[in-house]
Amino acid sequence: LYDIGQPEHSVVTTCAYCGVGCTFKAEMRGDELVRMVPYKDGKANHGHSCVKGRFAWGYATHKDRVLKPMIREKISDPWREVSWDEAINYAASEIKRIQAKYGRASVGGITSSRCTNEETYLVQELVRAGFGNNNVDTCARVCHSPTGYGLGQAFGTSAGTQEFDSIEYTDVVLVIGANPTDAHPVFGSHMKKRLRAGAKLIVIDPRQIDLVKSPHIKADYHLPLRPGTNVAMLDALAHVIVTEGLVNEAFVQERCDPAEFSTWAKFVSEERNSPEVVAKITGVPAETIRAAARLYATGGNAAIYYGLGVTEHSQGSTTVMAIANIAMATGNIGREGVGVNPLRGQNNVQGSCDMGSFPHEFPGYRHVSNDAVRELFESIWGVKLDNDPGLRIPNMMDAAIDGTFKALYVQGEDILQSDPDTHHMSAGLGAMECVIVQDLFLNETANYAHVFLPGSTFLEKDGTFTNAERRIQRVRRVMAPRNGYEDWQITMMLAKALGYEMRYKDPGHIMDEIAKVTPTFANVSYKLLDEVGSVQWPCNGDAPLGTPTMHIDHFVRGKGQFLLTEYIPTDEKIGPRFPLLLTTGRILSQYNVGAQTRRTANSSWHPEDVLEIHPHDAEDRGIRDGDWVRVKSRAGETTLHAKISERVAPGVVYTTFHHPLTQANVVTTDFSDWATNCPEYKVTAVQVATSNGP
Ligand code: SF4
Repeated sequence: LYDIGQPEHSVVTTCAYCGVGCTFKAEMRGDELVRMVPYKDGKANHGHSCVKGRFAWGYATHKDRVLKPMIREKISDPWREVSWDEAINYAASEIKRIQAKYGRASVGGITSSRCTNEETYLVQELVRAGFGNNNVDTCARVCHSPTGYGLGQAFGTSAGTQEFDSIEYTDVVLVIGANPTDAHPVFGSHMKKRLRAGAKLIVIDPRQIDLVKSPHIKADYHLPLRPGTNVAMLDALAHVIVTEGLVNEAFVQERCDPAEFSTWAKFVSEERNSPEVVAKITGVPAETIRAAARLYATGGNAAIYYGLGVTEHSQGSTTVMAIANIAMATGNIGREGVGVNPLRGQNNVQGSCDMGSFPHEFPGYRHVSNDAVRELFESIWGVKLDNDPGLRIPNMMDAAIDGTFKALYVQGEDILQSDPDTHHMSAGLGAMECVIVQDLFLNETANYAHVFLPGSTFLEKDGTFTNAERRIQRVRRVMAPRNGYEDWQITMMLAKALGYEMRYKDPGHIMDEIAKVTPTFANVSYKLLDEVGSVQWPCNGDAPLGTPTMHIDHFVRGKGQFLLTEYIPTDEKIGPRFPLLLTTGRILSQYNVGAQTRRTANSSWHPEDVLEIHPHDAEDRGIRDGDWVRVKSRAGETTLHAKISERVAPGVVYTTFHHPLTQANVVTTDFSDWATNCPEYKVTAVQVATSNGP
């Protein structure tokens, strides 16, 4: 489709879609991109790609791109195209006016996991040093923040333990709450290759994902648990491991705190965590739970891969800890072929977390109250920094509704479409006096914006992305930014207009500062990346070329920490009025809210979101395949076509959230993870009925 001529030269760069981080050669003729060819030396993809990275880059030149800055005083006014100077000066004057009237903490910013590490670093610097507070957050809030918290508590570091290639040494693959063949396609294919070669497979997921049964692959055990019962299931697996004597005693004694282990072992051994009791909670037969636990504990090298089906729950952080518990109990940490591996969603969500996008942490996951770290950044940036954690995204909206939070700078993130409980989000954005959106397109959030700053695509910038395996890879400029500036330059212009001047010459210069202030990045430079292709952090004096496998001799925190993971049912309950549980996910050809993929030929493969419903539930409601149905929850309602499918169990319905017309998040609730506020997208009680259409 896009192969329109022979290339004259090529540029090696990194895909800007999912957290696999495939490397491509962008083949050019003059200034024109003619083809994206997967790069055989790419360490994450080894010459493979999926339909998104290979074909879905046409959005960069799509007619919907906004290329001129725009402002409007009220959101009911029409947009007015202005010069860059006018837009930046207007945005800065509004921030200054609002801070003078409502205080320093009345403004904040949101970083983008689609932007580069360098751009993310600058946004958090702008908020901390330019705005003078810690009100910075990231889309990881709504996806993998529980990974950061849970793995940080258990192991001492907030990232996956392995490189993708480690799966070549895996004997048992345990996939929980992830759908790798759709959401991380190239790694999903790698996983299938290993499974075809004989590795065993356990899938814990309410839905029959492709891996459960596809040509040449059949899961040894599929545990189709009720949405919201992950912790009960993992505690039951732990119960079997402990009570049947399957613990790796040598590993536990040497690598973990024996006293903590004893307390945990006593807890999981209690009858309430037995498969027989948990079968009633999860709906999965006790014998299947026992068999899966035995296979995980005794089948050789066992690796866990998980996704948002783990984190996007009111017990998301607890679930991550429960995963860490069974990995430590069986000694499946610290060598190739094992480990705990979060499959991060967006291309640079790992990087945005690493770069200090959370309101309580500087780059490198160091708390803002740490005096020594704060003094380090103060000496580099030349300003006094706040030692109080700032607001998270949902708290920003609460504060806006309460009248104390008045302005937001959002870079490359459509929070209105992607965050839960759309009504709450729109009420918060609508209450602000100045919303500045920096993006490629007029997205849903821009409906509430007063300033629109056109962003640049990954093809138009230099920088780095960090993928799900902690691999830092170069993004190289393929074409000049059609909007005039790369995103990091726009942030610098805004900072200067606010009176806080950043003096970075180019993205390489920003990375040099990141390396200086972030111990896990100490040895990273563009020179090194150009020489060796990519490195996995930690990359420093101890590991000059990076660290493919973590926690080999000891955990980053010293001893691994077993944590008690009590199952607490979610407050979101089914009942006579809302008898079905809705869970959400992604599909291969689309990406997140679809802002990019919907503007490419991929849209023809998935033109709308549909509701999967089991034949029994459909029959009960007189729903036929393809009928319009109305889905209603306590939060809101939406209308979409029904797809009758046995992929979902009776009592469960499923949809994707790629299309703004559906706005699946209108129905999701505001329940969230107890530790991180990650929303509970995966469990919403709904009613479903036939409808005449939207
Ligand atoms: Fe891009 Fe992910 Fe597809 Fe690789 S698997 S080409 S990173 S979308």
